[in-house]
Amino acid sequence: MPKAFSNVVVFVLLVLTITVADTRYLIASNKITALPQKEGQCGYKSVRVIGDALVDGFDYCRPLFKVMAYFRSMGFEFEPKFSLIIASKSNSEQSNSYGTFDAEKDNITIYPIGEKKPWNLIWNEEVYSSIVIHEMVHMAVLDILDKNYDRLPKEWHEFIAYSIQIALLKERLRDEVLSKYNNITAFDNLLNLNPILYNLAASDRFSVMAYKTYQARGGSTFIRNLLLFKFQPPNFLDLFPF
Ligand SMILES: [Zn+2]
Repeated sequence: MPKAFSNVVVFVLLVLTITVADTRYLIASNKITALPQKEGQCGYKSVRVIGDALVDGFDYCRPLFKVMAYFRSMGFEFEPKFSLIIASKSNSEQSNSYGTFDAEKDNITIYPIGEKKPWNLIWNEEVYSSIVIHEMVHMAVLDILDKNYDRLPKEWHEFIAYSIQIALLKERLRDEVLSKYNNITAFDNLLNLNPILYNLAASDRFSVMAYKTYQARGGSTFIRNLLLFKFQPPNFLDLFPF
């Protein structure tokens, strides 16, 4: 190689090295300066989406925005604060559940879907999104109730989560779910929405019963009245005169 040419090569390599190093520095320093804003996800500083089973290409912020828009339409605003954990293994205690919300830790955990699928549907993003929505509704309700879970009975917490889960499905999928369970009717007497029935009913059937009752009772207005205690769920213990 002629000397002049080799000098040019050395010079070019030197410039490239400096540029690459400089770019690296910029990326690193951008990361550092961007941290305060990037701490959270979905535009909220206390939202994190983590886990070892994140679904590629799935936008985990969309279910959150849907839930927030739904609650906003009822006049409830809340600052989301949670970690959404997409787990690759089911917790043995939760083997029948698609997800859980731990109010103490502000953790929503979504478990892998096994043999059992919601409403016996083929897995798709919309079905998956509805599972995330269900747990986010629990979180929103707890926030509205100042983290005081016991202000509503468990079956009424589930009533709200399932009703909104189905209400927020895309119309075509919602119609598909309802047509699969077209023999299920709303609760005529709300005393029947009680812990015994909740524990006995399969979750798919309970969810459709809940949604049909929600519809028959005024939809989101009914949920709003429940959360503002303008409507009190009947006390199941009143069924027993002793
Ligand atoms: Zn639930």
